[in-house]
Amino acid sequence: MTRLAARESPLGTFTQSLGRLPTLLRSMDPTWSLHSLAQLDAAFVAHHRITGFIWDIDGTLTAYHYRELLPEAVGPFGALRRIAGLGHVILSNAPEWRVRELAGMFPQLAVIRGYDQGGEVLSRRLLGDDDSWTAEELAARLAAGAVPLRKPSAELVRLAIAELGVDPSGVVMVGDQHFTDIAGANLAGIRSIKLRNPAASTFPRSIRVMQWIEAMLFRLRPGALRGSAGSR
Ligand SMILES: [Mg+2]
Repeated sequence: MTRLAARESPLGTFTQSLGRLPTLLRSMDPTWSLHSLAQLDAAFVAHHRITGFIWDIDGTLTAYHYRELLPEAVGPFGALRRIAGLGHVILSNAPEWRVRELAGMFPQLAVIRGYDQGGEVLSRRLLGDDDSWTAEELAARLAAGAVPLRKPSAELVRLAIAELGVDPSGVVMVGDQHFTDIAGANLAGIRSIKLRNPAASTFPRSIRVMQWIEAMLFRLRPGALRGSAGSR
């Protein structure tokens, strides 16, 4: 596995996260924890003054690396897409090939990628067939040491907020994982929704083990026994 491939693997996410474990353990609490996407409807959006969503994909809207929405996500996600003035962007830790696939699957939604090149944060936007970077630019930047940012990077979440073009107070990040989606939202200072992953069985065993560890850590995290979760 190349160094870049290793960084882009789920195991890479996990091992990179270990060094930040104390921070992540303090950043795992979602604003809301929902059992199903159906609970996230127009009334929820209006009541909580939500103006933009940052979406995770795998385990949230699709099964692992599937090309179709989860059957139970089709109706609720379509209804959210039809709400006038509500913005949507995609932020995934998936590898490059999957990110390109996502741009094709959701041709009207921007897929945001972020890179750290020598301490400078660079933003890349894929929209359908359009890529804000040419293949040559991407290759040149990677060759020059640019490293993809991954959730829970606050800088990466801020790029997605900038793409939405709304006040951060109205933005909500939606995902199925505490260490990436929820911690990313908390580190960037925005609200979040933790969804149950309805397609856990489609994920590789190695990722499921990591998700189990994450769930255990969430239950045992500081403050958990005082019942502080999801009550905002
Ligand atoms: Mg996910």
